[in-house]
Amino acid sequence: MSRTARLMDGTGLARRIVEETAKQAADITERTGTAPCLATVLVGEDPASVTYVRMKRNRCRKAGIESRYVALPAATTTAELVDTLGALSRDPDVHGILLQHPVGAHIDERAAFEAIAPEKDVDGVTLASFSAMSFGLPGFVSGTPGGIMRLLDEYDVAPAGQRAVVVGRSAILGKPVGMLLLGRDATVTYCHSRTAELSSIVREADIVVAAVGRPRLIRGEDIKPGAVVIDAGYNPGNVGDVDFDGARERASLITPVPGGVGPMTIATLLEQTVRAAARQLEV
Ligand code: NAP
Repeated sequence: MSRTARLMDGTGLARRIVEETAKQAADITERTGTAPCLATVLVGEDPASVTYVRMKRNRCRKAGIESRYVALPAATTTAELVDTLGALSRDPDVHGILLQHPVGAHIDERAAFEAIAPEKDVDGVTLASFSAMSFGLPGFVSGTPGGIMRLLDEYDVAPAGQRAVVVGRSAILGKPVGMLLLGRDATVTYCHSRTAELSSIVREADIVVAAVGRPRLIRGEDIKPGAVVIDAGYNPGNVGDVDFDGARERASLITPVPGGVGPMTIATLLEQTVRAAARQLEV
């Protein structure tokens, strides 16, 4: 039976979250005389990363969150980046820190992430944040995975007992979203570049999360009828990792690209920055 999936409107939900976050930011500023501040750190000039950081800073400004921009040359060493992040971690005027991923291949990204103080890790990239999230303890979640879970909640998708297939296992996206789904009692399978029989695994999924970076890797015909499809992929030409036209004929809910997962990532970042500021300023 052919159907057309309902679209999961990340843009609208993110707008509501950011409006609420802006109110909280204004309240903190009024009560303490200090605006929440996010430091954004960019290494090099990769055009996509430059755009992402600009978007994040723009949204901060609109939400009444200050942003401090640190642009480092592509040739920055791991030690220099660690020093910069360490200084921001100690700076009382900075409440949250975002290191734009990916940094250059010559940099030890894990060492850089670990230089971010956990109380300022508003993008949820440190080992401390990952472990807290995996154990269901308080802390900051990774931005995109956190945004995905909010979208599922908004559309009343209860992961408990569902078979969830996460395609991709990166530290910032695939792995943490699988842990969050597991924490909500889904039965989780991870797929990656060495997975055999990807199609047959995806076919079993009640919830599919595509987090790869390969245009239309997930075929529409592999979507189980009625499944929920979350496409976190973002490829040149505004194309996701899922064959959208094919998948929407079978899914019950699907995220558009753009306008699905992307805006939710920024909303989660802003929300967590304000939460970090409130805690540090003891509001
Ligand atoms: P990444 O670090 O490059 O990881 C890609 C993952 O996909 C890896 O785990 C890799 O497996 C797996 N993979 C590669 N080829 C595969 C294949 N043929 N079949 C199955 N798995 C395969 O990428 P990322 O940073 O997680 O980003 C993934 C996508 O999400 C990109 O399109 C990115 O632009 C997008 N993204 C969107 C947002 C947002 O806010 N919307 C945020 C972050 C990322 P191995 O581990 O085996 O190498």
